[in-house]
Amino acid sequence: MKRFICVLLVICAAAALITLAACKEKKAEISEYEIFASYDAEARTLKGTVDFTYYNDTGNEIGDLKFNLYGNAFRENAQHKPVSQTYINAAYYAGVNYGAMTVDGVENCSGWNVGGEDENILTVTLLTPVYPEENVKIKISYTLTLAKINHRTGVTENTVNLGNFYPVLCAYSSEGFVECAYYSNGDPFLSECANYKVTLDLPPEYIAATGGKLENRTTAADRQKCTYTLSNARDFAAVISDKFKTVNQNVNGTEVTYYYYSDSEPQTALTAASESLQYFNTTFGGYEYPVYSVVQTGFCYGGMEYPGLVMISDSLKKDDGIYTVVHETAHQWWYAMVGSNQLTDAWQDEGLAEYSTLMFFENHPAYSFTRTGIVGAATKSYRAYYTVYKQIFGDADTSMNRHLKDYESEYEYTNIAYNKGLILFDMLRQSIGDEKFLAGLKKYFAENQGKIASREHLFGCFISGGVDLEGFFNSFIDGKIVI
Ligand SMILES: [Zn+2]
Repeated sequence: MKRFICVLLVICAAAALITLAACKEKKAEISEYEIFASYDAEARTLKGTVDFTYYNDTGNEIGDLKFNLYGNAFRENAQHKPVSQTYINAAYYAGVNYGAMTVDGVENCSGWNVGGEDENILTVTLLTPVYPEENVKIKISYTLTLAKINHRTGVTENTVNLGNFYPVLCAYSSEGFVECAYYSNGDPFLSECANYKVTLDLPPEYIAATGGKLENRTTAADRQKCTYTLSNARDFAAVISDKFKTVNQNVNGTEVTYYYYSDSEPQTALTAASESLQYFNTTFGGYEYPVYSVVQTGFCYGGMEYPGLVMISDSLKKDDGIYTVVHETAHQWWYAMVGSNQLTDAWQDEGLAEYSTLMFFENHPAYSFTRTGIVGAATKSYRAYYTVYKQIFGDADTSMNRHLKDYESEYEYTNIAYNKGLILFDMLRQSIGDEKFLAGLKKYFAENQGKIASREHLFGCFISGGVDLEGFFNSFIDGKIVI
């Protein structure tokens, strides 16, 4: 009897547990964005809602969530202008004008405010703190007003660039959520991987290029709704246009599409994208997103990377266009899949993207770039910068672990992050040999995919086999090495 009673009790307890488990919503173990965004072409606005499920992987109790409102950098009285004086004419093709990102409301919270250094941070106070490994859901309603500007977020002459088009959760560090204003030097973005489901509500004549997989498209009256998904990505971006034509190619199961409106040889960009995707797949490790969209657009710089999507400026000449496509493709590995701190160590992804571009061309001699040519040009440019800065300022600060806000100019930023970064990787390869160099890059990719890797993580992948590289890396980072 006793035994029977025990069994019955166990059965009852098990049944109760099963019922409880069935009632309890499945816990998300990565944060999730469900975004609905409706574009009004006449008003140049995007009205959106973000149903955000936060997964607390910080190890700490979290009472407030912080989101970056990058779209607010385009407003009239922004302290940090989104574009420097050098690029102002290339960016504002219709004269200087403004945009904004306005928060209309936040649901399921006890309060919210917009503040930060430059009205760039939305702080949401939760109803109750969220504990480690637990979820909380909030809903943000917002309006993005787009400036007429050839930039990451803006209406260009032929397209609408929707980079950074929604409030994105700030990355978390030991000091809390990382707030970052929109510095015109570099890419002032730092965010952790999340899952995305994004619905774009658009006029019917528009074609949308995104980094996600198209799951559903419905049309009704004078609108179309397209829903995309993208998993384990640190951002989601789109470019929309009523002028897009496309060419595409399948590479190892990935649909590579080139979206363009003014290119007499679209196959050139598609081939460069496909060949470099294939080469980096084999050399570093597999590409993980469902599509790769290469998008010709109005853009004041050469190109810009987002997970699964890159923007390529329509003003580039043929060879510069090819080089930019390969560089942005390399960013899918170094920025998108393996993140790094773009605010304090911009060289980490830019230098590696530059060096990966060099490796691609070295292995594809039909193109007009060589290892000697690329290293020679970077060294020449870096030395010229060093000489000029020494003459102007008496000394040149060549340290590499600098915050974006501490660069004097785009000229200095480019020479430190891109050129000195590329030189670092070439000298590293010369000192340890091709085999260890490639093995180190493969290890860096495998161990840091989906994360934000520190510079120590990167260095650690090469410091093995008794080779003392610490002094080498330190002399580059602290600026002591003479190039
Ligand atoms: Zn880059």
